[in-house]
Amino acid sequence: MHALAKLTIAAQAGRGAHEDETDEELPPTDPTRQAQLDQYCVGAQPGVGPTRRPFSPRESQRLSAVQWAARSTMSQAYLALGRGDRYVGTIAQRVFHTPVDPGHASARVAAIRRKLDSVPIEAATCADPDCYRGGIMAYVTDDLSTMVLCPRTFTTSPGEMRRTLIHEAGHAAGIDASVTGNEEYCTETPSVDCNDPCGNLAGDSTSNVDAWAHFIECAASA
Ligand SMILES: [Zn+2]
Repeated sequence: MHALAKLTIAAQAGRGAHEDETDEELPPTDPTRQAQLDQYCVGAQPGVGPTRRPFSPRESQRLSAVQWAARSTMSQAYLALGRGDRYVGTIAQRVFHTPVDPGHASARVAAIRRKLDSVPIEAATCADPDCYRGGIMAYVTDDLSTMVLCPRTFTTSPGEMRRTLIHEAGHAAGIDASVTGNEEYCTETPSVDCNDPCGNLAGDSTSNVDAWAHFIECAASA
């Protein structure tokens, strides 16, 4: 399968803290203890029962708000690229560890945005073997046609969920089509770090979906 978004200790530690300006405007997820256990697939078995479910009203509300935030972030990044702001070039160098042509970056951001707007999003259950695996937030199906959200996505902050949507849209756009082997992720942080957010990735990161997700966040706040 494609396209995992990963939960790390750092992300868990940051949950609940003030992370970015979107947090206070968005609805919380279901707070009951049983709902939390369900979200982490406690007591579930992969392959037993249906793998898809409807989003709960709370989840739909959260998803709509985060989709709106993700689109807004992508539009801001696209505008910053269009302005020819030199600082955006600096951000690209910091994130990707190589210079990136602004026209190329704009085209990629536009392609990711189109996928964010057009790819259907489904809710998975913990019977989905990919979602049952610890740490998997979401994925894009192998044919790149559908984005699947695992229950634990809704345990993350709105800021983290926004990054997950942009990340998965990057897979849907085929950013990493040329990459073989296991996906690498930028170190997950609760806040937006634009100094060297993907410093743990070696060399040119322009085919790394997570690097694009971080670049978009940073360009948007430039
Ligand atoms: Zn991924």
